[in-house]
Amino acid sequence: MSVFWIFNAICVIFMLMGNPKQQSLEAWLASRRKAMVQEQIAARGVSDERVLAAMEKVPRHRFLPKHLWDEAYDDGPLPIGYGQTISQPYIVAYMTEQLALSGDEKVLEIGTGSGYQTAILAELAKEVYSVEIIPELGHRAARILKELGYTNIHVRIGDGYRGWPEEAPFDAILLAAAPDHIPQPLIDQLKEGGRMILPVGEYYQDLVLIRKTPEGVVKESQIPVRFVPMRGEAERSHPPKKK
Ligand code: SAH
Repeated sequence: MSVFWIFNAICVIFMLMGNPKQQSLEAWLASRRKAMVQEQIAARGVSDERVLAAMEKVPRHRFLPKHLWDEAYDDGPLPIGYGQTISQPYIVAYMTEQLALSGDEKVLEIGTGSGYQTAILAELAKEVYSVEIIPELGHRAARILKELGYTNIHVRIGDGYRGWPEEAPFDAILLAAAPDHIPQPLIDQLKEGGRMILPVGEYYQDLVLIRKTPEGVVKESQIPVRFVPMRGEAERSHPPKKK
């Protein structure tokens, strides 16, 4: 009898200590997400309230395998298989803010990957068209995005170098893989007044913001970044220089 009560008392003590496993897991992850927005994103200067709200809402952990859930709100990229990574939360927020979305836009994303950035865009724009070159990743992302209830996302498997001509023009374009030059077909598919953000470079890249104005295309280099290289036609159209 006394052993039974001691055991019960120990259980109660553990429960009162608030072991995260005993709390609602989702509530614990939501609190981590809130801290991520404040400490990694707002603290570094992202100030668009809509972007901050989307970053606080979208459950990044759902785009990762379960064994990585406790790292889902850490300050860095994480592996998603097939040699690819889910982007660092701050970079996702930064790039999204640069697109200055207000809610009515048609957006093209190249490099669906996990689907996380796609979900953020879908929170902030009207329709999102996303192209992924690795079929397994594209299909998995589409399934998760559907499970989360998004109905304004269209995922296509293929090489995004030539964009999505049937749906062009786009108000905004975002690339999550780095070409060593700016793909002309994507500039062509950008609406006048539209914005495109992409990493450009071989090993180390710069984020480049492109604005299509009535006077022409304006390019502005921003922060240094590290993205996976853009595969397919991007590599063939500019073969690596011979040493
Ligand atoms: N924002 C994504 C990042 C994924 S990594 C996330 O947070 O999950 C970049 C993705 O671009 C990879 O999935 C890679 O397979 C894809 N990619 C690379 N080259 C591509 C191309 N030419 N067309 C479409 N997708 C491409």
